Amino acid sequence: MKVSPALLIPLIGLFSATAWAEPPAPAVSAANAPTGFPAVPPKGRIILWGADATKAGTPLTYQISYLADDAVVGQALQLAVKATWQVEKEVKNNKTGVMEKKKIDERVVKSFPITPKKQAVETIALPAFDKGTAIELYFAGNTEKLPPLSNAVELKKRGALFLLPEAEELAKTVAALPETAPVKPAKPHKVLVYTANSGFKHDAIPLGARTILLLGQKSGAWETLISNDRHMFEPETLAQFDAVMMMQNTGSLFGDPDKTVNERLRKSLLDFVASGKGLAGSHAATDCSYDWKDYGALIGGYFAGHPFGKISVRNEDPQSPLNAAFKGAGFDIQDEMYTFREPYSREKLRILLSIDISKLPDDPAKPGFKMKENRPDHDYAISWIQEYGKGRVFYCSFGHQHHVWSTPSLLQHYLAGMQYVLGDLKADAKPSAKK
Ligand SMILES: [Zn+2]
Repeated sequence: MKVSPALLIPLIGLFSATAWAEPPAPAVSAANAPTGFPAVPPKGRIILWGADATKAGTPLTYQISYLADDAVVGQALQLAVKATWQVEKEVKNNKTGVMEKKKIDERVVKSFPITPKKQAVETIALPAFDKGTAIELYFAGNTEKLPPLSNAVELKKRGALFLLPEAEELAKTVAALPETAPVKPAKPHKVLVYTANSGFKHDAIPLGARTILLLGQKSGAWETLISNDRHMFEPETLAQFDAVMMMQNTGSLFGDPDKTVNERLRKSLLDFVASGKGLAGSHAATDCSYDWKDYGALIGGYFAGHPFGKISVRNEDPQSPLNAAFKGAGFDIQDEMYTFREPYSREKLRILLSIDISKLPDDPAKPGFKMKENRPDHDYAISWIQEYGKGRVFYCSFGHQHHVWSTPSLLQHYLAGMQYVLGDLKADAKPSAKK
């Protein structure tokens, strides 16, 4: 099934979607041309940038969601977009006179008139470029009151990161979405899906993030904002959300070069959950911030390896409403299955699903397959919940392979997990070892 990008825009719209008509020709003057980007955006300007691009069509269409500070709302501004990508060119070596292949940076800077709302999704079109693209955006002011460069956040290191999922894939997800949520939400909720990653870049991130958005949208259980901007974790910004979903993050979760800022954002997340809010994590959400032990305890464990692919799943908690989709049984599945190390512990976590190692066959092609085990206790959890202060945590390692995001039972598992962390779906979180 083909879905045109134009049809997808309402699907992926967040708070309001304004499709821009044909973008105006580049109109960047010396006054608002980008010159540099502050490492830490000045507090109180644009708080969020996130972007997506469709693969279909040229030029590429980017969805940019933002949350603007009051200081810029309603002002006549420019949305300045700088895209940098690499092309291979034959260049003459000045010393030897020989033509050599060289990677050259190509850049385009465009600006679009914009009157920022408090929060909105805008669609802009940029020239098509290869992977390896870095996009930087900021509001550029036209008055003295607003500095030419009011704020900027680098959106991505690689073009693929913010690509929208393929239309066909998204259509499969849409078809697999549960009709309703397990419970009616007690109040409207907002969820932040955080996609930043600085280590291995999972290509399922755009699909996973969109799936969380669609799960909330279709069921009416929450609204979603997708962002890779660590400044979303500033306490006053984070306060508007009821839960965070860590979507396959790698590297340092916040990675701010300023240690003080980093510490502030870390404390903000811990306080957020402890105060009664929710944290969910998918797949590589356990494969990041290894030096931040409090995060390991919060999410429930750290990645130890992914030795298994095809597995049998044990339903550890058939009574849990988070496992309702599995109807009391286990199932077979193929994904990149994680194993975990400390602080992973059944003394703290309520395990929902795990790998049934007894059913893991020795791979005839690779004798000794079971020797890939990396825990003497053979305990390989897949998903779990735990209480943290007054808040709740749900983690599920499924999600590396794209089919996970269109498997109905797993979508129901994620939906129920989200409703659990949001506080709507009640579940017994007594640690498995204390049952
Ligand atoms: Zn993976």
